[in-house]
Amino acid sequence: MTTLTTEHARAWADRFVTVGAERNDELTELDRQAGDGDYGTNLRSALRRAAANLTGEPTSPHEVFLAVSEAFLNTGGTSGPLFGMWFREFAKAAKGREVTAVVLGEAATNAVAVVQRLGKAEVGHKTMVDAMVPAAEALSAAAARGATVPDALAEAASAAHVGAASTKRLLAKRGRASYVGEHARGVVDPGALTVAYFFDAATPSSS
Ligand code: ADP
Ligand code: MG
Ligand code: MG
Repeated sequence: MTTLTTEHARAWADRFVTVGAERNDELTELDRQAGDGDYGTNLRSALRRAAANLTGEPTSPHEVFLAVSEAFLNTGGTSGPLFGMWFREFAKAAKGREVTAVVLGEAATNAVAVVQRLGKAEVGHKTMVDAMVPAAEALSAAAARGATVPDALAEAASAAHVGAASTKRLLAKRGRASYVGEHARGVVDPGALTVAYFFDAATPSSS
């Protein structure tokens, strides 16, 4: 049984900060087409705060997740608080224990439940939930098979990408994209894509 080391968690968060910056224009363009175009600005400020929080040299995966969570909770837009609450469940799950693939699966399952309780989005409503649910399912399934933490996270990334891609053909039922109706069809949801980039960042070769 492998566990998520502090070094891995830290590198994962650092790569997420990097990838988020690299993908900022792309994500902004998606929110411009389907929302109000501020997604990248919101994400940039969250990731800047995350990077600043991480200079405190976290000593456990719990502290890494908490640093990222607090950064998003202090950011505006719909995505900031929802991601903040999502990451908070990873921090909670990691507190005071070894972070196995089973723990990550439980964390991801609880995390998307919190996002759904707050945002009332179901799978198919064209939001971040469309990537969060398949990622949680993939993590739990991998954990049940005894997969290593890196393998389970790679499977979560693949599932999140499939979920994010699925939002392209959907008509939004939640968020600003729902105000523009058919105009947002054909546009991938930036929140869902960010979830996929987050799980990509768990694997070194991804950035
Ligand atoms: P805003 O609409 O306030 O400008 P952002 O641009 O920060 O918000 O974030 C938009 C993202 O938030 C969308 O791409 C979508 O993934 C997510 N989102 C919007 N509404 C919801 C909701 N009710 N539940 C889950 N996610 C949502
Ligand atoms: Mg927006
Ligand atoms: Mg906005």
